[in-house]
Amino acid sequence: MADQLSERVYVLPGGTNIGVVLADDGRAVLIDTGLNDTPARKGLRFVREELGTEIAAIINTHGHADHFGGNGFLVKRTSAPVYAPDLDEMTLRHPLMQPIMLYGGADPANPIRTSFLIAEQSPVDGLVHLGENTIAGVTFEAISLNGHSMNQFGYLIDGVFFCADVVFPEVTLEKYPIPYLYGLTEHLAAMETARGVSAVKVVPGHGPILDDINPLIDRNLSAIEAVIESLLAIIDHPLLADEICQQLFQRMNVSIPDAQAYYLLRPTVQAYLAHLERQGAIHLIVEDASVKWNQA
Ligand SMILES: [Zn+2]
Repeated sequence: MADQLSERVYVLPGGTNIGVVLADDGRAVLIDTGLNDTPARKGLRFVREELGTEIAAIINTHGHADHFGGNGFLVKRTSAPVYAPDLDEMTLRHPLMQPIMLYGGADPANPIRTSFLIAEQSPVDGLVHLGENTIAGVTFEAISLNGHSMNQFGYLIDGVFFCADVVFPEVTLEKYPIPYLYGLTEHLAAMETARGVSAVKVVPGHGPILDDINPLIDRNLSAIEAVIESLLAIIDHPLLADEICQQLFQRMNVSIPDAQAYYLLRPTVQAYLAHLERQGAIHLIVEDASVKWNQA
C-alpha cells in the first residue's frame, strides 16, 4: 500500500500523495494529509499499524484543501503540531479564504462553497522557512515553488523531492487542459527551480512517483504554451475577461459543468493575462465602464 523510497521516507499514494518520514526518535512526520478524513485515516492507520509509531508533526506543502483537508482529523486524534509555508497557512486556519480568493475577494456565492474548496479548519503551530528546517527531529530543505499557490513549498528529504503541485500528471492534463494556478510568471520560474533540484525520487502532489521530473515539466510547459497560443489568437480586439474565458474554454474544449469549475479557472486565466501583460504581449484598457484586454 505504501511505497518506501528511502530508509525512512514512505509515500502513501492516493488522490493526493501523502509523504511519511521517520524521525530519529522513530516517530513519523506527514507531508500533506489529503482532502478529508478518508485519506487522513489511511495515513494514521499506516503510521500506527504498519510502522508501529505515532505522528509527531504534519508539514503541508501549500494551502489547498486537497493537501491539508485531513489535518483536522489527524490533529484531533494525535495532537500533532502543523507546519506550513507563510501566506498559504492562512487557508489552513481560515479555509473559507479559498473560495473567497477564487470569487475575487468577496463573500462567495453558495454554489462555490463546496467541500472540495472548503476543507476542515486546521491549526498552524509554526511556519516552514525556505532552506533548512528541522521539525520533530526531521531535517529537510524547503524550496520555493510558488505560482501554483501564493507560497507553495517543495520539500527535499534524503534525496526524495516532494514537489507538490509544481507539475500535474498526464491524466490530469488530459482531463483539465488548463490546470489551476495562482501566478503564471512565478509558476514558470518554479518549474525551472524544480528542474534544478537534484533528487533520486520525485513525489508530485498527484500521480505517479517519478525518477526524473523533467519530462513531466516539459509536458506541463507545453500545456501552458497551448493556453498562451489560444489566448493570443483570441485577444485580437478588446475583450472582457469573461469573454476571453468563454472563448478560451470553448476553443480548448474545457468543460465547465458547474460554478466551482468556472471559479477555479477564471483566476487562472487572470494569471495568464497578468503574465502576458507583463511581457508586453497584451494590455489592459478601461473603456465602456469596464476593463478590457487587447493585443499590444
Ligand atoms: Zn494545489
